[in-house]
Amino acid sequence: MSDALDNLMSAVGDLVRATPALRDFVQWPDAPVRNPLAPLAVRCIPLIEGTSAPASTLTATVVDAVRAAASVAHWQQTYAEAEVGRDFLNRYGWFELLGPNGHFRSEAIRAFVAFWGEGLHYPMHLHEPEELYHVLAGAAEFHADGLPSILVGPGGSRHHDSNQPHAMDTHAEPVLTLVLWRGSGLSGNARIGKK
Ligand code: ZN
Repeated sequence: MSDALDNLMSAVGDLVRATPALRDFVQWPDAPVRNPLAPLAVRCIPLIEGTSAPASTLTATVVDAVRAAASVAHWQQTYAEAEVGRDFLNRYGWFELLGPNGHFRSEAIRAFVAFWGEGLHYPMHLHEPEELYHVLAGAAEFHADGLPSILVGPGGSRHHDSNQPHAMDTHAEPVLTLVLWRGSGLSGNARIGKK
């Protein structure tokens, strides 16, 4: 019997296979092993469940599956209030769908579902794994050292190299994203700063 996380995993696999930018970035596993993680709540879950931010034709199924799985996902936050502020922590969160410590196991890639409410500034930060953001719903403006800033909407992607400092702003809309990591340092976390 499949549950909301199985359905989400299946929907993300379909999205990856249908989206060249995603399927070129990762080798998505066919039958990943489930890792029993208890639900862990963050304050932004009702915002995700209630969001009406537009999705694309390809991402809409995943957005619905994220909403359905939000209450059983193991949500986390990387940062402390001193780094990003209380409002940020009240309206942001992520969970590891696939990876070394995710709802499904992989030692080769890490896939997160991550959300930010509208009007938030995610300061410059970096991490060792190479990264591909894919916007599922809403929009965000991405900034990075060495790249022009761009607004990315549903179905759009943004790539960051290993240890390339990057930042993000949301404006009038929240953003729901699929974030893929590959390469060394996979189990580490991002840290605020530029080095
Ligand atoms: Zn990043």
